[in-house]
Amino acid sequence: MNILVTGGAGYIGTHTCVALLEAGYSVIVADNLSNSNIQALDKIKEIAQKELIFYQVDVTDEKSVDKIFTNHEIDGVIHFAGLKAVGESVEKPLAYYHNNIVSTMILVRACQNYKVKRFVFSSSATVYGDNNVPFKENMSLLPTTNPYGETKAMSERILTDTVKATPGFSVALLRYFNPVGAHESGLIGEAPNGIPNNLMPYVTQVAKGKLEKLKVFGNDYRTIDGTGVRDYIHVLDLAEGHVAALNNLIEGTHIYNLGTGRGTSVLELVKAFEEANGIEVPYEIVERRTGDIASCYADASKAKRELGWTAKRDIIAMCRDAWRFEKNYKEFVETV
Ligand code: NAD
Ligand code: UDP
Repeated sequence: MNILVTGGAGYIGTHTCVALLEAGYSVIVADNLSNSNIQALDKIKEIAQKELIFYQVDVTDEKSVDKIFTNHEIDGVIHFAGLKAVGESVEKPLAYYHNNIVSTMILVRACQNYKVKRFVFSSSATVYGDNNVPFKENMSLLPTTNPYGETKAMSERILTDTVKATPGFSVALLRYFNPVGAHESGLIGEAPNGIPNNLMPYVTQVAKGKLEKLKVFGNDYRTIDGTGVRDYIHVLDLAEGHVAALNNLIEGTHIYNLGTGRGTSVLELVKAFEEANGIEVPYEIVERRTGDIASCYADASKAKRELGWTAKRDIIAMCRDAWRFEKNYKEFVETV
């Protein structure tokens, strides 16, 4: 089966391409490389020992998308392409609404035109807002505090409505919790531009000495140690979740939490990183970050029940693999 992977050169996309190729799917990547590097595609091929097809295109451009559907018999789409920085989305709402919503609409329309029946969408736990944990798929969504979150909620709605109007169309809305870690080879991983917004890449850069110390955003939440609790999931488990979703896709809209079901506080993650890698991570407690919630973790039982998928890798593996990539990436950048 030919799977079109938009955003396939990015962090989650690269790991999913590897998992798809290893599962026997043929992969066509569409990415404009706005937040990724062309070398990532060679790394996918090197790990999987298989070829893939690459189009450097913007998936908000209908003509370019159309060309891919004309050139190939596409059996399914996994739509990762999108802008994802929460803070930036507050500063540039139009860029976020345009990129993330228009891309979804154009791809869904192409699926209708070319009779493609399978669509897997990258959503986010952010759509739950400040609901009570653990988050369940059937909870009412609460308003998110930023345009990024709204683009995810709106894309979910667009896809759900399209399913109702399109007999035979199957959609999986995958709500990711906090993807971290990297492929065990150290060849692909998360390489954010500039100063990282997210916890794990910040921690790895502190460990490397690139940043002086971690700022822990608040220790007065009602959590185990006062710091924010999140459901960190190894990116390889997440990638396998996409293959499971694709393998089990049936007509209708199906929503799945992809998380471990376990919450880890910021200080617990720092301790796990230190234990896993034998490196100290200096930190200081600072003010809460605007828009943060205290706790966010999944009820991951639906994916287990319906897809036969569970996250297998623990927090130590996440920390070890994230650090291995950070070290390798440095060498990679220096040699390019
Ligand atoms: P990423 O930035 O590493 O990957 C996204 C890829 O999409 C990049 O390679 C980028 O160049 C490409 N892209 C962006 N806009 C495009 C466009 N218009 N046309 C073609 N390519 C385009 O991000 P990621 O962490 O791999 O996230 C993938 C998806 O998962 C995103 O939709 C993101 O919102 C969602 N998500 C991510 C997280 C997370 O914490 N990483 C959590 C929940 C949901
Ligand atoms: N966090 C932190 N310092 C940082 C980055 C994040 O203390 O430099 C905390 C943040 O407040 C939250 C957790 O780490 O409790 C995860 O944050 P991240 O931005 O990685 O994910 P999200 O907030 O999107 O769940």
